[in-house]
Amino acid sequence: MLCAGGGGGWRDTTTHLWAGKSLFEGPEGGSSCPQALSKLGWATFGGFGGGGGACTAGGGGGGYRGGDVSQTDDITADGQDGISFVHPSGEIFLQPLAAMESHGEAEIEVHLNCSHCQTQSCKRDEDSRLILCLCHNEEVLAPDNITCFLPTTAICFIIMGSNVDLLSHVKLLFVDLGSVLHVFAVYYRKKNHLHAVRVRLQSPEYKLSKIRSSTIMTDYNPNYCFAGKVASLSELKEVPRKNITLLRALGHGAFGEVYEGQVLGMNGENTAMQVAIKTLPEICSEQDEMDFLMEALIMSKFNHQNIVRCIGVSLQILPRFILLELMTGGDLKSFLRHNRPKISQASSLTMLELLHMARDIAFGCQYLEENHFIHRDIAARNCLLTCPGPERVAKIGDFGMARDIYRASYYRKGGRAMLPVKWMPPEAFLEGIFTCKTDTWSFGVLLWEIFSLGYMPYPCKTNQEVLEFVTSGGRMDPPKSCPGPVYRIMTQCWQHCPEHRPNFSTILERINYCTQDPDVINTPLPVEYGPAVEEEGSTVIRPEGSGSMTPLLVTHSMSQDASLQPWELH
Ligand code: ADP
Repeated sequence: MLCAGGGGGWRDTTTHLWAGKSLFEGPEGGSSCPQALSKLGWATFGGFGGGGGACTAGGGGGGYRGGDVSQTDDITADGQDGISFVHPSGEIFLQPLAAMESHGEAEIEVHLNCSHCQTQSCKRDEDSRLILCLCHNEEVLAPDNITCFLPTTAICFIIMGSNVDLLSHVKLLFVDLGSVLHVFAVYYRKKNHLHAVRVRLQSPEYKLSKIRSSTIMTDYNPNYCFAGKVASLSELKEVPRKNITLLRALGHGAFGEVYEGQVLGMNGENTAMQVAIKTLPEICSEQDEMDFLMEALIMSKFNHQNIVRCIGVSLQILPRFILLELMTGGDLKSFLRHNRPKISQASSLTMLELLHMARDIAFGCQYLEENHFIHRDIAARNCLLTCPGPERVAKIGDFGMARDIYRASYYRKGGRAMLPVKWMPPEAFLEGIFTCKTDTWSFGVLLWEIFSLGYMPYPCKTNQEVLEFVTSGGRMDPPKSCPGPVYRIMTQCWQHCPEHRPNFSTILERINYCTQDPDVINTPLPVEYGPAVEEEGSTVIRPEGSGSMTPLLVTHSMSQDASLQPWELH
């Protein structure tokens, strides 16, 4: 059915779905053309008493006598006007059709459903045609396009260059509280406020050509701002592929395999340097390419002994590589778990060693805090150790969450569903507020992970239960045998009010006191730890839209990190 519907009149009746209903029938607008809906994404329903739109022409207007459909089959042709039954004097005109056939006017307003927005108000962006939530006063829209936050400083606005269709949009790198954050693709003004819009989707052909092309990384040249300095692709140290040798697989990351390898010719020397090599599979999405690049940019700008260094990149040849400082001790969570006491064998670790690992990460966090970089995912799984032995140094090794927020990919990757809730303070999971004090809270949870030797925080609680527990003031108990002064640092990090949480300089002072307190460092580690490994990581995940279905129980042995599994916010 391609034709439009006529407008509803005063008392006519119709069986056509497309025609507007008369006032007597309840002046409902006619249905839209299904083809137009599927082709154009327009639901061309009629308004009050109006006929529905056709696939190629407009429906008639409602009135005392409904207007006819358009006479020509042309997408720009309007339906005929409905005829009013109100006399120009304002009186109801009882014989309207006898004399009164002038054109009326209907005003059609699009009503947007903004109920998902924090402020319940939104607007359609003219450029992108996306529905954007609006924020109050000086607030700025977060990349989730739902929540608003108050940036204290807008440190740098950078115009980023790119090619093809993206050139038509000015892109902004907007740096929030922590000098990091949101890549905004297009901008528009409303009462002088900037609102974020995500990058306009690119055509599949464009994406494919990008994936095939090995020069994508140079086409896209995002600038990244850290510590007031701009980093761009040109600053990444490209290492010739012939100088790189892969030796063995170390693990599997979000992108692809991570290998141990060797690089020749670094610093002009002919000696081989041991490195970890993050690889990006050749077949991957353009988004993954950009995320991979952003990870290299982010890591290359840090310069601190407690943050894993980016040695260089090899992006010109597929598969692309990021070369990182080799951390042979692996990730902190696995290390702690491997070093738990076993039957008839106490843990090889001491309280002092645990405190040193905590101190190392606090140093890394202090550096980030001083540079207004919010990590957003401080957790044992994201920390790496230089080596397994006692001379080990712990470093922050993963910036995936900050990168995703920067690139606005976090929403694409599952948004709220993938948040590390057990490491997040209430204002972050409830209101989307992230500050350096978000990292303080997470550090408290990391401290708990360290002193429980790698336990899943809030054992046996689901993310939803943790959310409810924490918002109603609940906090974790100390891990078994955890010295009081160490537990006090945790609880200070978990103050409800962010301002009451210590910054990292204070945390470092308190850790240092602990390292000098004989009562603390002489506390023996327990000879056995709580529930069995299978039980501790249990969490409940419900597939989206499962309603009241029986929850699916998964354990850590089944999922790599259940803390990041999809979960429901009720
Ligand atoms: P993800 O992207 O999932 O956060 P990564 O790609 O950072 O994970 O790392 C995956 C695994 O590779 C880690 O668990 C770790 O075992 C290993 N790995 C990552 N970076 C290094 C490194 N610099 N040195 C040694 N091993 C590393």
